[in-house]
Amino acid sequence: MADLPIDPQPEASHFIAGEWVEDASGAPIPLVYPATGKVIGAVHEATPAIIDRALETARNAQRAWAATPIAERGRILQRAAALIRERNRELSVLETIDTGKPLQETLVADAASGADALDFFGSIAPGIRGEQIPLAGGDFAYTLRVPLGVCVGIGAWNYPTQIACWKAAPALVMGNAMVFKPSELTPLGALRLAAILHEAGLPPGVFNVVQGGGAVGAALVSDPRVAKVSLTGSVATGRKVYAAAAEGIRHVTLELGGKSPLIVFADADLDRAVSGAILGNFYSSGQICSNGTRVFVEKPIREGFVARLVERIERGVVMGDPLDERTNFGPLVSESQMEKVLADIRRGVEEGARLVTGGHRANRPGFFVEPTVFDEVTDEMHIAREEIFGPVLSVLEFESEDEVVARANASPYGLAGGVFTRDLARAHRLAERIEAGTFWINGYNLTPVEMPFGGSKLSGIGRENGWAAIEHYSEVRAVHVSTGPLDAPY
Ligand code: NDP
Repeated sequence: MADLPIDPQPEASHFIAGEWVEDASGAPIPLVYPATGKVIGAVHEATPAIIDRALETARNAQRAWAATPIAERGRILQRAAALIRERNRELSVLETIDTGKPLQETLVADAASGADALDFFGSIAPGIRGEQIPLAGGDFAYTLRVPLGVCVGIGAWNYPTQIACWKAAPALVMGNAMVFKPSELTPLGALRLAAILHEAGLPPGVFNVVQGGGAVGAALVSDPRVAKVSLTGSVATGRKVYAAAAEGIRHVTLELGGKSPLIVFADADLDRAVSGAILGNFYSSGQICSNGTRVFVEKPIREGFVARLVERIERGVVMGDPLDERTNFGPLVSESQMEKVLADIRRGVEEGARLVTGGHRANRPGFFVEPTVFDEVTDEMHIAREEIFGPVLSVLEFESEDEVVARANASPYGLAGGVFTRDLARAHRLAERIEAGTFWINGYNLTPVEMPFGGSKLSGIGRENGWAAIEHYSEVRAVHVSTGPLDAPY
């Protein structure tokens, strides 16, 4: 492409058994650059034959991979992490073209976080072990952590490379094989990851990538060769995947949507809280599942908070070409996501929320929506209840701790939450009282891979990252060892 620094077209649509694989009989999926709306390439949807080949190759490769010493598996992941870091810029440019997210952001948050996950799981590999359980009479039991088999990973479009790494790293270190299907909107990052893993020494067939939409995902999830499914996506898709997995009693990890509360008490450092609200709403143009989109601000400081927030947005946002490193605010991923977000904004206005900044499509090509803040939002409004997945922040006023906890928890979602306060006892109290898988105190949206991440209630089950993820990509086998006499009744 003349106007892009690299040609994003991959060598082929799929990566199976260590090779690029094309099957042009699959329906074409256009690659659209969100910053211009122009088609910049295409991949082909996986046909049933491609899906079968990927699953079969994964099944065959998994046994030998599981027999490879865990420390060696870990070393391969760490080599892949090093390759990703060496090529961070090139991978970040590709991620920006795939998603439209500013390069300023992808340089630090996408492939880099993926490398962190590969490094983390690679480095803890030699320390992963079972337990020994002393029993009566000199008997004892011990536990083994055994792999599950073939895992399917299905990704959303907001963090294509990071999501693929966060799923692949714990799956592979535990001796599983994986077939990964990225979102059809962002097919590129996972393909690059597959090539890098193989360059790092991963045996062919252990990590495979196939392209396609929901139908391909559904075919993968219901295949009898699959032992586990890990989805990052919406609650609606999560329900379908969970139901399909139930048919085969498959393990699942579901990383779904949210409507998380970010609570600002009057004693908070105001600028820090405003920073948290910005990080928790406008990074990736708001396309982050854990965003604190319901910003509850204590009554005495609400007006000052909103004024400072709007001033910082209007002064600081640099909307533009995402490949220009000065840009800090990019487009949404697709035209349909942009239309959905604009419809949600219109609904906020109709329901009587006070639009204080933004609210419109930006006057430029591509799928840009202005960073938008609503004040005087009430709990029953659509914008306070439903995930928007765009740059839309709602400010709600509260007067007491008990009141804000009850209102924050009155949501079917439970992905994340956060508090800004100088009162540490209150902060820790809220960490216990807010129903969420992740909670931030005096910060927001920080997701180091050492820390487990995931949701409660409708936001999902299972955890990614940290030692917790090991449990979701392996199962315990208990081994009982009898050493004393063995009595039998007859
Ligand atoms: P979707 O639920 O639309 O899609 C997620 C993935 O599932 C895509 O790859 C999609 O394919 C695939 N898919 C769709 N239908 C099926 C099916 N029946 N069976 C199997 N797979 C299927 O989510 P989005 O891609 O729109 O992502 C946005 C959502 O993801 C938001 O709700 C967001 O909150 C959530 N999310 C959650 C995160 C978390 O960690 N909790 C992190 C990031 C996002 P395709 O799209 O190609 O058709």
